[in-house]
Amino acid sequence: MVRSLLTSPKRGSRIAEADSVVVIGLGRFGTSLALELMSAGTEVLGIDSDEEIVQSLNGRLTQVVRSDSTNEEALRQLAVHEFDRAVVAIGTDIQASILTTSLLMRFEIPAIWAKAVSDAHGQIFEQLGVQHVIYPEKDMGRRVAHLVRGAALDYIEIDRDFAILKMSPNSLVLGVPLGESHIRSRLGVTVLAYKREGTGWKNADLSTVLHEGDTMLVSGPIAKAEAFGQLR
Ligand code: ATP
Repeated sequence: MVRSLLTSPKRGSRIAEADSVVVIGLGRFGTSLALELMSAGTEVLGIDSDEEIVQSLNGRLTQVVRSDSTNEEALRQLAVHEFDRAVVAIGTDIQASILTTSLLMRFEIPAIWAKAVSDAHGQIFEQLGVQHVIYPEKDMGRRVAHLVRGAALDYIEIDRDFAILKMSPNSLVLGVPLGESHIRSRLGVTVLAYKREGTGWKNADLSTVLHEGDTMLVSGPIAKAEAFGQLR
């Protein structure tokens, strides 16, 4: 049976079986993340030291509590040590962010995501052994730079050298089966999927023929995918 945040967990067992996440720090980033988790059906325990923020999220998260996350006893009382997944979304107060994250590490929470506001902040997390260090401002800035300079409708960097771009089909792929466009062998990019009015997104294959008005997802090394995106 799936255990819920709404019922108290058995001691010594972890809560993640219930698809629950603890989000610590409910600023703009933490709140947006927590609400998105809720809308996807994940239960969220939100923790923030600011009473006004806690009040404003009351009833919108499974549970939202005012507490200082640098206080080990307070976290234990909230059963934070029993979660499998935690996000530390405290930014400006770097000391609180690091203290909180090291407490979660001491609790041996298996999956911790910690938000870094600078490279130095992120390096400390990496030295602590945090598996998932996130840099929302830096990553969003880079993403928008790619959108601003190219013709892509959306840009997702998979790694430092590989990306997926959402774009309109160009003359190289319009009206011919993708297998005959030779874009992979000639230009190093692949059409992964496409969207057509009325049918929604579908995976592309060698026989797919794209039409005007479609939208496609193209993957490839960043420079090649962007160069492809510039072609008309
Ligand atoms: P954002 O950009 O997401 O709005 P930020 O990077 O400016 O956030 P802060 O405002 O410093 O980050 O922190 C986010 C939230 O974390 C705030 O709502 C703050 O009240 C909360 N917070 C800071 N320190 C603690 C703490 N020790 N315990 C619990 N919550 C904390």
